[in-house]
Amino acid sequence: MRLLVLGGTGEARELAARADGFEVITSLAGRVQNPVLPVGEVRVGGFGGVEGLANWLQDNDIGAVVDATHPFAANISENAAAACREVGLSQLVLRRAAWTAGPLDRWIHVPSLAEAAGQLPGDRVFLAIGRQGVHHFAGDESRWFLIRAIDPPDGEIPPQHELLLRRGPFTLKDDLELMRSYAIDAVVSKNSGGDLAEAKLEAARILGIPVVMVDRPPLPAGVHVADSVDAALAWLAATRELEQFPG
Ligand code: NAP
Repeated sequence: MRLLVLGGTGEARELAARADGFEVITSLAGRVQNPVLPVGEVRVGGFGGVEGLANWLQDNDIGAVVDATHPFAANISENAAAACREVGLSQLVLRRAAWTAGPLDRWIHVPSLAEAAGQLPGDRVFLAIGRQGVHHFAGDESRWFLIRAIDPPDGEIPPQHELLLRRGPFTLKDDLELMRSYAIDAVVSKNSGGDLAEAKLEAARILGIPVVMVDRPPLPAGVHVADSVDAALAWLAATRELEQFPG
């Protein structure tokens, strides 16, 4: 069976490496200049909305789709759900669990980066949100920002800032040192979940610093969801069985 994995995450790469017996094609949006590539076939670039994706799925004889994109990549997830419905394909969303606050965390929950920009505590803010969305903070002339991302943001950026171009994973030691040396007094994070970027939250907890936490956009309605690669592999095995022995 030919499997499309919508990628751009560590889980997508792990799935591509472990989906034995499937012919895997991973799709990347093409946002990052030097992406870490999965094993197997890779295609890069948008499909052209729901219709483009629906046509691509049929033209490429795809038997199942796993949407393993980042929890904040809401547009491709909505498009994938709609395209799979349209062409009658089995689809799974692979989403790692969200982070949850412990008793010592000082999180301010907001629904979007725009809201985060309007509710910032502190004067020296660590923007740990990646490249996209930095423009929401561009109008803030009073605060200083430490912006960490793999590639430079493409929109406007706040006037007072330092840009750190780095790719995770980051350790607790790294992030404690970073936040201490820049005298950070607030952190902005998306609730991405997973281990690779969690250190900043542990560091904020230890330093008693507030975190403005952007909550996840909702999942598309009616999709199957797995929260681990193991669960996604079990779903794939069951899907293939159904295809071989339809009821
Ligand atoms: P998005 O807003 O949901 O998608 C915007 C458009 O980009 C989609 O409509 C689609 O274009 C194209 N696209 C997105 N993901 C694609 C994929 N895997 N393969 C082919 N086309 C894709 O997405 P985004 O937030 O810009 O994220 C883009 C990619 O970066 C995703 O693959 C995601 O996993 C990864 N990523 C995102 C974040 C984040 O914070 N958003 C963080 C880490 C990694 P068409 O409509 O033309 O098909």
